[in-house]
Amino acid sequence: MKVNSVNEGLLIVISGPSGVGKGTVCSRLRQKMPELTYSISATTRAPREGEMDGVSYFFKTVPEFKKMIEEDQLIEWAQYVGNYYGTPRRFVENTLASGQDIVLEIEVQGAMQVKEKFPQGVFIFLVPPSFEELRQRIINRGTETEALLNKRLEAASDELNQIKNYNYVVINDEVDKACECIRAIVMAEHCRTDRL
Ligand code: 5GP
Repeated sequence: MKVNSVNEGLLIVISGPSGVGKGTVCSRLRQKMPELTYSISATTRAPREGEMDGVSYFFKTVPEFKKMIEEDQLIEWAQYVGNYYGTPRRFVENTLASGQDIVLEIEVQGAMQVKEKFPQGVFIFLVPPSFEELRQRIINRGTETEALLNKRLEAASDELNQIKNYNYVVINDEVDKACECIRAIVMAEHCRTDRL
């Protein structure tokens, strides 16, 4: 599928290490850019307080998730810190075909799978101002045990090396500033001559 044609929406992937604030940036982006459509992922992770099925994620059992993989219902999927996460295919494809831009907020392994299938997508890498800041953000979130925190930090260090595979890098030192950068990127992508 050719994503960057003028009739189709942009596939915008926002990725980066866990704890960088992808979730926070994307929820602010929903307010600031309601014209974008936001994909809802499937996961086998347990809901956190306040998370609702079909809003934050589609919460699945492991057998349900595996069935989605077998039936090719996911564009990409990854195992991350012991849980499965994946992007339901049909919603993304229908959104793009209808000319709307869609945002996927996903971790790095999944983003690279999307890049193979949709090379014309717009790949944005969010980075923290520093690694120490990232550590602090994960601790402040307060949802992780010590062992999980260390796993997430190890994953984050590997993930930061993937920056070269992205089209854009955005430093998340302030959420509003990061959103404005993303807005500028989306506008610029819509003005590319190769979309004509
Ligand atoms: P959390 O458990 O903190 O909500 O998410 C953990 C990680 O999984 C985050 O980096 C988040 O961006 C990523 N993630 C969420 N949905 C998906 C998805 O559909 N696919 C992949 N590959 N990663 C996802």
